[in-house]
Amino acid sequence: MDETVVVALAGNPNVGKSTVFNHLTHLHQHTGNWPGKTVATARGTFTYGGRGFLLVDLPGTYSLFASSVEEEIARDYLRSGAADVTLVVVDATCLERNLNLLLQVMEIAHPVVLCVNLMDEARKKGIQVDLDALREDLGIPVVGCSAGRGDGMETLQQVLLETAADPPPRPKEPVRYPAMEALTEDAWQDVRVAALMDRAEELARRAVRSPADAHQRDRRLDRLLTSKATGIPAMLVLLAAVLWLTIAGANLPSQLLSDGLMGLQEPLRRLLAFLPVSLQSALVDGVYRTLAWVVSVMLPPMAIFFPLFTLLEDAGYLPRVAFNLDHHFRKAGAHGRQSLTMCMGFGCNACGVMGCRIIDSPRERLIAILTNNFVPCNGRFPTLIALITMFFTLGSGVYGQLSAALLLLAAIVLAVMMTLWMSRLLSCTVLKGVPSSFSLELPPYRRPQIRQVLLRSVLDRTLFVLARAVMIAAPAGLLIWLMGNIMIGETSLLNGCAGALDPLGRLMGLDGFILLAFLLGLPANEIVIPVLLMGYLSSGSLTDYAGLTELRTLLVQHGWTWVTALCAMLFSLFHFPCGTTCLTIYRETKSIKWTLLAILLPTLVGMGLCIGVHLVSLLL
Ligand code: GDP
Repeated sequence: MDETVVVALAGNPNVGKSTVFNHLTHLHQHTGNWPGKTVATARGTFTYGGRGFLLVDLPGTYSLFASSVEEEIARDYLRSGAADVTLVVVDATCLERNLNLLLQVMEIAHPVVLCVNLMDEARKKGIQVDLDALREDLGIPVVGCSAGRGDGMETLQQVLLETAADPPPRPKEPVRYPAMEALTEDAWQDVRVAALMDRAEELARRAVRSPADAHQRDRRLDRLLTSKATGIPAMLVLLAAVLWLTIAGANLPSQLLSDGLMGLQEPLRRLLAFLPVSLQSALVDGVYRTLAWVVSVMLPPMAIFFPLFTLLEDAGYLPRVAFNLDHHFRKAGAHGRQSLTMCMGFGCNACGVMGCRIIDSPRERLIAILTNNFVPCNGRFPTLIALITMFFTLGSGVYGQLSAALLLLAAIVLAVMMTLWMSRLLSCTVLKGVPSSFSLELPPYRRPQIRQVLLRSVLDRTLFVLARAVMIAAPAGLLIWLMGNIMIGETSLLNGCAGALDPLGRLMGLDGFILLAFLLGLPANEIVIPVLLMGYLSSGSLTDYAGLTELRTLLVQHGWTWVTALCAMLFSLFHFPCGTTCLTIYRETKSIKWTLLAILLPTLVGMGLCIGVHLVSLLL
């Protein structure tokens, strides 16, 4: 009785499996309204009624025919008999389609519990699900719930406990197949699929009552957001709005934070008065100042951008973006799903690279991995925003913010186009082949779960990125300070390194310090500007900067013009992936050759663009 109950969690993609998993285990598995985001099995534990449970979250699949990696993982796990109970989660708003998988699970696993999730969404659409009818027809325990709000979770745990302790008899024939003589493997598949669909339809007919216009609102929205004429313009408008809100909203809090944190410098110095002056300066001018920069410049935009982005994700918009871009990716000889992995890259390139597992064909997966870094991740957005705000805002107030947002939008569009061009280049050179076809499912639009969105975007994204930046910026600040103070002959090590890089930097419209900052920013893109700042500060200038205005003054003192800023933006968009991403690329490709190509490709593109811009600016 006191052994741990192993519960396998199965379901179609996007039915709320991760939400159920998180609720039961109090973990933060990533949730999002699009199919294909769970690519590995997650495990978590909880106790209920005095018994321990181990929950194994299988990848979301539409069937168990083992025609994809996810299906194979799910099927093999269920077949292995490792689970004491299998919990199948289905979406109440499209039950018939979901029952197909349930029936297949019932054929290989026992006991099975059915969790009909998203009951709240179904209610909103006027869809009624008769749980008793399902229970009776299927012969298994059935629980209705709205995992997003936590409704029904208690009952679900109770049912799991009871089922584990006292499994009901195995239902006789979940699906009835027509009697047939020896069939070929292919023909058998067809018969099977037809029988499964018939049975699912029969079950749904008895259990579901839905109004004729249940999905009308979705169809209307889709006409606007995914049609040929309006899909891409709507996408650009939405993106511009998000960027504008981010830039406009971040200004004031950024200034306040920076004033507050910089004001603490002197008290901190006094507090450390007992230390030797040089060490004091290392801690305050090196470590603390860099941290203050990271927090005041990065936190406000992230705290606005991430919740907005997560809202769109939760509402089901990301797959629509993928849908709009699908055709372009195929024309570039790549897989349509690459548009999804690219979207993930906007969050974090390492996650994007790992997400490429949703692409089955090795050739197209490689293209997606090699080009993921061409879109800027969270870590690079603050750099781009800061550079744009300092050098390219036209006018002040709303116009300034609007022009900044549009420029950032242009940078993102350039990044997407570059991803497409590079995919095309790869697919007609080293990775030749024909794009494979696939079907992209558009999930229903859902009202975002505000509490969840805030929690997830603040905890999982904002704080995660900030913590990473702080953790890396602190030692980096110290390193720069040391480099600035270790003398080799007449010059400091820092100046020596920057000097060595200077000719290349100048050719690229930058300087040695900027290149050095990008190199030292290898552990995390977040710290490029802080490192640069440290470099400039330790090389003589005593400007005490606070906000972006002072920072701009500092940069201009070091010879920055708008050309420098433009080149820095371009190089920030296109350069080698951060350390974590490089490691992930190596882990996913198991090849030094491809990892090197993934590093070289964006770096060469960035260098080429910078040199081009610099030369053109000289001519002008
Ligand atoms: P998975 O792909 O099956 O793991 O699905 P997720 O757990 O990521 O959920 C998919 C989307 O549905 C997310 O945007 C969730 O916030 C949302 N969601 C999950 N459960 C519910 C629910 O009970 N009600 C509503 N309205 N949304 C839900």
